[in-house]
Amino acid sequence: MAKTYKIEYDRNNCIGAGICAALDPENFKMNDDTKADLIDATFNEKTGMWEKEVGQEEYDKIMAAAGGCPVLIIHVIDKETGERLV
Ligand code: SF4
Repeated sequence: MAKTYKIEYDRNNCIGAGICAALDPENFKMNDDTKADLIDATFNEKTGMWEKEVGQEEYDKIMAAAGGCPVLIIHVIDKETGERLV
């Protein structure tokens, strides 16, 4: 079965470097306030994180974006195992 991944994005701490939007423009775009938006994400009031789920086909790009973020505020979690990959 195809895997799914949860993205957690701590937008408050974004410094606007733009690497995520360059590496994964399907999931991140820069906003006028100089921070990145996680496209089609939902805000989790409890954690303060923006969240969405993506499929296996988006794995390489989201991992590149998460690993490339200089302040490491993009997290990728394996939905099956709960393991935090970034
Ligand atoms: S790479 Fe990180 S700091 Fe830069 S815009 Fe994206 S989320 Fe913000």
